[in-house]
Amino acid sequence: MNILVINAGSSSLKYQVFDMTTESVLARGKVERIGMETAMLTHEPTGRPELREVSEILDHTSAIRRVLRILIDPKEGVLRSIEEVHAAGHRVVHGGEAFSGSVKVDDKVKEEIKRLFDLAPLHNPGALTGILAVEANLPDIPQVVVFDTAFHQTMPPVAFRYPIPNVFYRKHGVRRYGFHGTSHQYVSDRAAELIGKPLEQMKMITCHIGNGGSVTAILDGKSFDTSMGMTPLEGLMMGTRSGDIDPAIVPFAMDKEDLSLNEVNSMLNKHSGLFAVSGGMGDMREIIEAAGEGDRNAKLAFDMYEYRLRKYIGAYAAAMNGIDTLVFTAGVGENSAYLRKAVCDKLTFLGIQLDDSANEARSRDDRRISSPDSRVEVWVIPTNEELMIARDTFREASKALTPQA
Ligand code: ADP
Repeated sequence: MNILVINAGSSSLKYQVFDMTTESVLARGKVERIGMETAMLTHEPTGRPELREVSEILDHTSAIRRVLRILIDPKEGVLRSIEEVHAAGHRVVHGGEAFSGSVKVDDKVKEEIKRLFDLAPLHNPGALTGILAVEANLPDIPQVVVFDTAFHQTMPPVAFRYPIPNVFYRKHGVRRYGFHGTSHQYVSDRAAELIGKPLEQMKMITCHIGNGGSVTAILDGKSFDTSMGMTPLEGLMMGTRSGDIDPAIVPFAMDKEDLSLNEVNSMLNKHSGLFAVSGGMGDMREIIEAAGEGDRNAKLAFDMYEYRLRKYIGAYAAAMNGIDTLVFTAGVGENSAYLRKAVCDKLTFLGIQLDDSANEARSRDDRRISSPDSRVEVWVIPTNEELMIARDTFREASKALTPQA
């Protein structure tokens, strides 16, 4: 079975095609600037050179049509015909309380995703547009949606409720949902498999730290708590997001700087975090380099980022009454030995001992970076959200194809 995995935003769309007999990627790519005359398609068939093409692509339906055309192109393509796309899987950011796992798309599912626009106004509309665009081009294939929030639906109320009047939860669904669930689930499953122990018997903390970042406490094989909240703004300090701040800063800033709701939202989401503290750098590589050259703002940005991450790891070790496995993933987690060392060297009280040469080894593979006598195993596991989406799509679409007894 070949599966088209789609991650659609408001003006962009990323795709990968998987052959599920070998779980291999046949091609990947993206369409950017959808809605403009200068939309750009980047297509990369595995093992062959990348192709870029600028053309007018005015909506998501045309974008999918363009992607399908290149997928079956005799020269650049990887499939013989459109019929070789057997199912599509979509990443959807917010599944609210309605979805605790991946599901096949039907009218009810589409309605529910639409109902959740209020909770994820920046993300869910793009995803729904992607689903409708595949439907318009390939009306007969099963589509499956995979939610960033689903893995975290196991959190107990003590972790997911906010201490504010109940009406906000009852009437408006204000609670912690958590995000990056597909990634936390993938790396925790993989870590358990590599260590050779059932996840249900482990106390694991997974750190997904890229431009956005979140930490998850996994107890009894389930997400028990996670640092992102009702939206992806809560928790860790991120590239351009503030993470945790005193909520009273919001009305204070609005009053003192005469900011509108939109402006304060944009201040906290797009102009805060590493970017704000460093004075304009949102990229961790740049910050580490500048800090090394003596830039004080960059050093403070790095130190705050590391300190806040370490506090979350400590908090979740307390939440679970212990920890036996710590996992790093995503852009910063996978690539920055410097950040991992800064965090781990101050967590020796938890029983964490880093193996410095394993930590610094350049590798793209899953690897243990703790020393053999470390009480806590520390791992770097490159995340693979697309593969997770393809696997879930394969499972749900196969159910749809095989009539249940
Ligand atoms: P996104 O959240 O957009 O998916 P990624 O997971 O790709 O982001 O992570 C991007 C972040 O990873 C950037 O801040 C980038 O600087 C950082 N990063 C990538 N490589 C390194 C590295 N070698 N050292 C430090 N940071 C890195």
